[in-house]
Amino acid sequence: MFDTALQIERRWGLNLWDDECPWNTSVTFTLGEPGAARKDVEWKGRTQRPFQSIDQRLKFSRWLDIFQRLGGCLIVQRVALADLDEISKWHELTIVASGKGEIGQCFTRDRQRSMFDRPQRTLACLYVTGMLPAESFPGVRVNVIPEVGEYITMPGLTLGGRCEMMLFEGIPGRAFDALSDVAGVDEQLNVSQELLARYVPWEAERSASIKLADRQATLKGCYTPSVKHPTARMPGGKFVLGLADAVVLNDPIAGQGANTAAKCAGVYFDRIIERHQEPFDESWMQGTFECCWRQHAQASTEWSNLLLLSSLTHVVELLRSAARLPNLADTVANGFDDANAFFPWIADPLQTRGVIDSFK
Ligand SMILES: Cc1cc2nc3c(=O)[nH]c(=O)nc-3n(C[C@H](O)[C@H](O)[C@H](O)COP(=O)(O)OP(=O)(O)OC[C@H]3O[C@@H](n4cnc5c(N)ncnc54)[C@H](O)[C@@H]3O)c2cc1C
Repeated sequence: MFDTALQIERRWGLNLWDDECPWNTSVTFTLGEPGAARKDVEWKGRTQRPFQSIDQRLKFSRWLDIFQRLGGCLIVQRVALADLDEISKWHELTIVASGKGEIGQCFTRDRQRSMFDRPQRTLACLYVTGMLPAESFPGVRVNVIPEVGEYITMPGLTLGGRCEMMLFEGIPGRAFDALSDVAGVDEQLNVSQELLARYVPWEAERSASIKLADRQATLKGCYTPSVKHPTARMPGGKFVLGLADAVVLNDPIAGQGANTAAKCAGVYFDRIIERHQEPFDESWMQGTFECCWRQHAQASTEWSNLLLLSSLTHVVELLRSAARLPNLADTVANGFDDANAFFPWIADPLQTRGVIDSFK
């Protein structure tokens, strides 16, 4: 997570891993030569403030303990629609933060804000130890392999300590799909190393001796990025409000989801406090979501979608130009923290060229 989102966690004293978690300060972008397993373009941008990545298994379990210690009532249960209906009847406000969970289907798709009707990448993630450090300014390394997909790494903190987080983003039907068919975690590790050797050899060298951080430190699957209408009417008549992935689900290519989730939680919190004794009715819910959308989620969504459409020439030109223009590289790196920095100009090829020229 980047600094703006980390500030929200700090505001509530939830930054419990600052001493243990590696601090990252750079974004390294490498574009491979099509079909050649060689680097074509590479640059490194420095972020103004450090960022970090913490295994959510570690983070959320600790936060749930704190929630209970502060008097919160934690019930561990798979919530079905009938349960949600009951919950909404007995509470002034019900927020659904179910991520990609099925219950989120109670929110209907917003066609205007959803660009895709199918998954754009097959995802495979591993947390490993034993990877050789890449450089003096550690950070996220984004490798784009034309016609294949992206391979992203970042130092982070997992259950047993420091690790390196590896994410393969495969264009469906292309080589990284091999990771979808692996039978178990050992095979996932082996196939990952084979794919690196073949498509990202400069990263394979660092990964010759990697081991899984633990037997559950892998993930694979795919989903369709989509934006939903933020409220759902329960059978009993009450409305519930969606938060984060339940209503704004982006591909992780730009590392926006957890950042947007924290930022939107911050907005929801402020709106709840401001409401005083007024009811949390549907129009308040819509207004609350629109605040999040305008302030944070729209830019994150559109930036993620632009990166998925890797064929957009002006975006490719921007990323290539950053190799020659260090200040532009820093600007792009910092844009991952707040994607609003890219808008409105990145949506327009002419304006994007103007921005590139302004760095010359
Ligand atoms: C491979 C991958 C890599 C990612 N990398 C990054 C990154 O680098 N940076 C970044 O910012 N974001 C990243 N993300 C996105 C980020 O993980 C999510 O955006 C973020 O976790 C969303 O938070 P959330 O609370 O909405 O949902 P989640 O974190 O998914 O939490 C939802 C919770 O609800 C529970 N749940 C679901 N349904 C039910 C039910 N019916 N009853 C009870 N509980 C239920 C789930 O079990 C889960 O615990 C990545 C995502 C993936 C898949």
